[in-house]
Amino acid sequence: AVPALKDQTLFRDRCYIDGKWLEADSGQRFDVDNPGDGTLVGSVPSMGAPETQRAIAAAQAAFPAWAALPAKERSKVLRKWFDLIVANADDLALLLTTEQGKPLAEAKGEVIYGASFVEWFAEEAKRVYGDVIPTPMNDRRLLVIKQPVGVVGAITPWNFPVAMITRKVAPGLAVGCTFVLKPAEQTPYCALALVELAERAGIPKGVFNVITGDGPTIGKELCASPVVRKITFTGSTEVGRILMRQSADTVKKLSLELGGNAPFVVFADADLDAAVEGAIASKYRNAGQTCVCANRIYVEDPVYDVFTQKLAAKIGTFKVGKGTDAGVTIGPLIDEQGLAKVVDHVADAQAKGAKLILGGKPHALGGRFFEPTLLTEVTPAMKVTREETFGPVAPLYRFKGEKEVIDLCNASEFGLASYFYSRDVGRVFRVAEALESGLVGVNVGVLANEMSPFGGVKQSGIGREGSKYGIDDFVSIKYIAVGGV
Ligand code: ADP
Repeated sequence: AVPALKDQTLFRDRCYIDGKWLEADSGQRFDVDNPGDGTLVGSVPSMGAPETQRAIAAAQAAFPAWAALPAKERSKVLRKWFDLIVANADDLALLLTTEQGKPLAEAKGEVIYGASFVEWFAEEAKRVYGDVIPTPMNDRRLLVIKQPVGVVGAITPWNFPVAMITRKVAPGLAVGCTFVLKPAEQTPYCALALVELAERAGIPKGVFNVITGDGPTIGKELCASPVVRKITFTGSTEVGRILMRQSADTVKKLSLELGGNAPFVVFADADLDAAVEGAIASKYRNAGQTCVCANRIYVEDPVYDVFTQKLAAKIGTFKVGKGTDAGVTIGPLIDEQGLAKVVDHVADAQAKGAKLILGGKPHALGGRFFEPTLLTEVTPAMKVTREETFGPVAPLYRFKGEKEVIDLCNASEFGLASYFYSRDVGRVFRVAEALESGLVGVNVGVLANEMSPFGGVKQSGIGREGSKYGIDDFVSIKYIAVGGV
C-alpha cells in the first residue's frame, strides 16, 4: 500500500483483462518492493499462458469496434485520458517513486513527459493521412490508406514505468490498435494506475489489457499468437533478440527500443560550463539508469583536466537518498542485481588502471545506494566502455582530434543516443552526421520529447517512438487500385 496517495483507488493490485480486475488462475502473486528501503509495497498476480491467451482474445474481440470509430472519437477518449493523468500527476509520481526509487521531482517530470505522448497522439490520431497516386492508366485510380495493424503486445521496462507505456500505447490506440501490456515485474503499479485512468476516460473494455507475471512466459505467448500482429518492446538488447527470434514464426511487425552505450564528447572549443551541465543531466538522471545516459565521456586533451575538476565539483553537490526525501537528487538502484553490476564495473575499471576521483563504492546509507562516481583515464579494455553500466558512474576518456573521437564513439554495437559539445558550426554538422546513433544531442544533454522521434540504429533497435513518425509503427499501408473508371 502507499498510504500517502490522495486517491487510494489508483493503487490497483489486480490485472485488467476485458474490463475486469482479475487474479491469476492459480491465485499466485508476487511481491513488489520499494528500492528506497526494501520494504514491501504489495503484491500483484502472477499470470501466465492461459491468462495471456484470454487477454489476447479480449483485445481481438475489441479491435473491430475500436478501429471502426472515427479517429476524432478515439482522439477525444485519449484527450480525456491525458487530462486524468495530469490531474492525478502527484499520486502517479508518488507511486512511481515508491516502486522505482527515482527522486519525486524526477518522477513528476516523468509523469508529465509520459502524459505528453497521450496528448500528442490524441492530436495525431486525426492526421493519419493516405495518398492519391497519379495514375499511369486513365481507367484507374490509385489510393493509399493506412490501417491499424491490429492487436499489439507491449512489454515495458522498470526505468520509466509511466512514459515507456504511454509512448507505446498512445500511438497504437490513436490509430485503432488494441493492446495486451506486460509491465516490468519491478514496477507494475504505475501500469495498473494508468489503465485505471484509461477506464475512467472511457477506453472500452478489451481495448487496453494489462497483465503482470513472468516476462519470458508472457512474452512467449504473445510472440507465438497469430492474433498478435505486432510486438513493441523497450528493454535489454538480449531480450529484444529473443522477442525478434520468437516473432519470426508469425512474421510480426516489431518495434524494439534496446540498450544504448551513449558517447558524450567534449571538444576543446566547447562551452565547458554548458558541457558540465549537460553531462550531469545526461549521466545522473534516474541515478544513471536510462538507455540514453552518457556512458562514455570523451574529453579532448587540452580541456581534460579543467573539465574533470568542474564535473567533480558538481557531482560533489549531489544528495543521495530515498526519492521521497526532500532535496534528494540521486535515488537508489532498482535492485541488488543492478547494484552488483555497478560495483563490478567500477572494480574492473580500477583493476585495469582507471583513476578514482570521487565515490566508487556502495553508499554509507546501505541498501541499494551507490556513491556518485567519477573515474578518469578509462580505456576501451574496461567493462564500462563496452556495456551499459546503468548506474551513477561517469567514466572519462582523453582524446585528440575529431577523427579519433568519431571512431571511438562508433566502436560499439549500440547506436541509440550520442552527445557532443562544440561551438564550431562546421564540426557540428560533420560530427552529427558521422555519429552512428538514432539521436544526437548537440550542446544539449537531454533531448527526448513527444514531438521528436526516439529510437536507435545498429543493435539499439528498430522503429521510432513519439513524433509524427511514431504513428508509422502501428499502421499498415494499403494500396487500393480502382479500375473501370
Ligand atoms: P532489464 O534488464 O532492464 O530488467 P529486461 O530486458 O530484462 O531489462 O526487461 C524488460 C522487460 O522485458 C520486462 O518487462 C521483463 O519482464 C521483460 N522480459 C524479460 N525477459 C523476457 C523474455 N524472455 N520475454 C519477454 N519479456 C521478457
